[in-house]
Amino acid sequence: MIICEICGNEINMLDENCPFCNNRIKVKNKNKIGPIKIFETINIKEDMPIAKDAIRDMKKKIRSVKQKGVKVVKLIHGWGSTGKGGVLRVAIRNELQKMKNIGIINDYIKGEDFSKIGNKQLLQRFPELKNDSDLSKKNKGITIVVN
Ligand SMILES: [Zn+2]
Repeated sequence: MIICEICGNEINMLDENCPFCNNRIKVKNKNKIGPIKIFETINIKEDMPIAKDAIRDMKKKIRSVKQKGVKVVKLIHGWGSTGKGGVLRVAIRNELQKMKNIGIINDYIKGEDFSKIGNKQLLQRFPELKNDSDLSKKNKGITIVVN
């Protein structure tokens, strides 16, 4: 097995194109040996009382998993309508929007928008997400980040 350098999925050495993202496989990458973990969960609500600290923590963790080749991150930040959970959720998503604007991350999907129908392309690229417990649950307490 080799690893697609675009989506990180394992692909057959004989394939011309990656079946997940349709990326044309370059010969030089055919020597790469996996497995690389492409999906990781990061929990930020734990012991992070101040949104500012939580954001710094999140950026550090996203950078660190990205370096390891992780392509998709599930951020768990809680969703309280009032109080810390809500404040954190809004602050984190504002920060993710900034990170997306300047190209640090590729995209992010709010947990409440994370669904089979709305994210077909994403699920095709990362089939592992099809089994995710938060898929189509409208869970405001999470955000999916695509590196
Ligand atoms: Zn691919």
